[in-house]
Amino acid sequence: SLTIGIVGLPNVGKSTLFNALTKNDVLAANYPFATIEPNIGVVGVPDTRLTRLAEIFGSERVVPATVDFVDIAGIVRGASEGEGLGNKFLANIRESDAICQVIRAFKDENVVHVDGKVSPKDDIETINTELILADLQTIEKVLPRLQKEARVKKDVQPKVKAVEEAKAILDEGRTLFSAGIAQGTEQAALLHDLHLLTTKPFLYVFNVDEEELTDEAFKDEQRALVAPAEAIFLNAKLESELAELDEADALELLRSVGQEEPGLATLARVGFDTLGLQTYLTAGPKEARAWTIKKGATAPEAAGVIHTDFQRGFIKAEVVSFDDLVEAGSVAEARARGKARMEGKDYVMQDGDVVEFRFNV
Ligand code: GDP
Repeated sequence: SLTIGIVGLPNVGKSTLFNALTKNDVLAANYPFATIEPNIGVVGVPDTRLTRLAEIFGSERVVPATVDFVDIAGIVRGASEGEGLGNKFLANIRESDAICQVIRAFKDENVVHVDGKVSPKDDIETINTELILADLQTIEKVLPRLQKEARVKKDVQPKVKAVEEAKAILDEGRTLFSAGIAQGTEQAALLHDLHLLTTKPFLYVFNVDEEELTDEAFKDEQRALVAPAEAIFLNAKLESELAELDEADALELLRSVGQEEPGLATLARVGFDTLGLQTYLTAGPKEARAWTIKKGATAPEAAGVIHTDFQRGFIKAEVVSFDDLVEAGSVAEARARGKARMEGKDYVMQDGDVVEFRFNV
């Protein structure tokens, strides 16, 4: 499955955040016999629609989609120079599908900042510089050979052009993602086998003081720093406290700081979206469940997530949108109202589709 690597300077609250994430580990909660790797947190993507479906279908349990966070050892200035920890760090990032930077915004004299002052802008620059330098090194290693090859092989020319353009962007101190060369674009496809770091989607977690959770002007400033990447604001210490409370107490604590849901819930949802994923829903007496698919997946591909046989033997999918189902109150009533659609193999799954597959075995 796809993973999000958590990176950041030392002492910004990564471990605190990661501990809170693992306290919410749905694997630990739902699958007590699963092997859990110490540096991976599997977090449920909160979805209130599942609770509603469970009511309609009388489901025994609810199974949310999940997103995997990987705790990557702390970045240090000079990581791209590649000695020891630096190499391992970059290799870990290379294996992640998205990069989540934890940025310190909280002020606390008792917690030392590696660079002596709290400055989100400088910290973001420090981390991005290491990633950019690593990508430049990769490019400098392959570009001369590619340029030579392109002189005799015309079909290599588009790739050379893409690599040269990427180099120009990186030389300006910009990440490829922020310049719009993100995974899924044609240019990123041409760069694919270079395994660059900065084409990965980025998201930013600002570890803020409680007062800043509701400080819209402050948050807008940080959002502007990281756009087009998403920014999430949370207090890591508060998150780890929330993870220990029951739902009612957690809600009360959240309300006291002006929040509706835990920052981790937002992080899971935004992270899931950043990975290019979406869900569709199934429900029955046993469970109401969200299944993970890539955005743009077709009905047979979606069926394949449940079982490869479902994809191979796919006939059609009966689809009711969640809103129509809730309004009708049951699948039978939705059918009677003409709200249940029979979709074939070319159908592209939509968010909120409640599905039953028909297939040959
Ligand atoms: P890491 O090095 O990035 O993993 O940082 P840690 O999670 O170990 O946190 C470093 C220190 O900062 C610890 O003493 C934490 O208790 C403290 N810390 C973490 N998050 C917060 C926060 O939101 N507010 C305050 N005041 N301290 C925090």
